[in-house]
Amino acid sequence: MQGSERRVNLWPVPELPDVAVYVDKIAERTVGRELLGLRLASPFFLRTYDPKPERLRGLKLLAVSRLAKRLVFEFEGELFAVLHLMVAGRFRWDDKTPGTPAKLPGKLGLAGFDFTSGTLIVTEASTKKRASLHLVEGRAALAAFDRGGLDVQRATLAEFAAAVRSERHTMKRTLTDQTLLSGIGNAFSDEILHAARLSPLQMSTSLTDEEMGRLFVATQGTLETWRALLAAQPGFPEKVTAFREGMAAHGRYGKPCPTCGAPIQRIVYADNETNYCATCQTGGKLLADRSMSRLLGADWPKNLEELENARPAAKLPANPERSTKVPKPAKAPRAPRVAKPKPES
Ligand SMILES: [Zn+2]
Repeated sequence: MQGSERRVNLWPVPELPDVAVYVDKIAERTVGRELLGLRLASPFFLRTYDPKPERLRGLKLLAVSRLAKRLVFEFEGELFAVLHLMVAGRFRWDDKTPGTPAKLPGKLGLAGFDFTSGTLIVTEASTKKRASLHLVEGRAALAAFDRGGLDVQRATLAEFAAAVRSERHTMKRTLTDQTLLSGIGNAFSDEILHAARLSPLQMSTSLTDEEMGRLFVATQGTLETWRALLAAQPGFPEKVTAFREGMAAHGRYGKPCPTCGAPIQRIVYADNETNYCATCQTGGKLLADRSMSRLLGADWPKNLEELENARPAAKLPANPERSTKVPKPAKAPRAPRVAKPKPES
């Protein structure tokens, strides 16, 4: 168990529900308010030269919205601030002295949007400064940011199915590939696949229509359920955490599946792991990722019963391979990499 938390990225990437909740909570506090000024603490944060940040001063904020995982702040006069948090970007809200710009945190502070109601602070707790701000004028300029993966919350089943089937990958990869689907990361992909009762290593191109329908419902349902849960928490969201009370599979290695009670399994890769329930998602089969299979050889348990006796396997050293992706599917079409079927007992 102790390996579970250690492996996971310290800074979980904000996923769609997190961004959606940021949008709502920021809008509640700032829409209709005047911007007193935009302070930039990091020269790398702002990626555009024109319009200048000074143009926003004294303008009223009309709306906050979401464009995939970007947040869009619409000011009077069709001036837009488009913000991407990337991995370690976060917001804080400081309204201790409304009307007076709040102090930006030393190393972390990227920018402060000083509204008459308080300061929206943007932070990034990483030496790699990847969060970005673009200031653009006019709706045509804003539309240029609308590209990449499908916004699954606004998609139809047909659009969703087309995106999922457009490239052949494992389902884990397809769900988290931002060029295919937007806003789903490691945590929510585990939850979606558990809800859809699909294997993380099932190939995206081999889903039946029935499975696709299940996946679509699970995707929209999981994201909306979590958005609502996060939105219901009081106050401003100061943290984005990978593990949340109530998740079914993600971050719950070894704990009982809430549906069937069997222990949640995992596939470890690079700094992450995929969690799934063998009983609910893979017909009882344990999935071995490539390097783990090699490492463990014949010792890799093939079913739940064997795993119970092989728990120390979880304490093996971290995956020596430096790959950053879920194991890639083979180039030639073939069955996903799953353990050979064996009788349950
Ligand atoms: Zn289960």
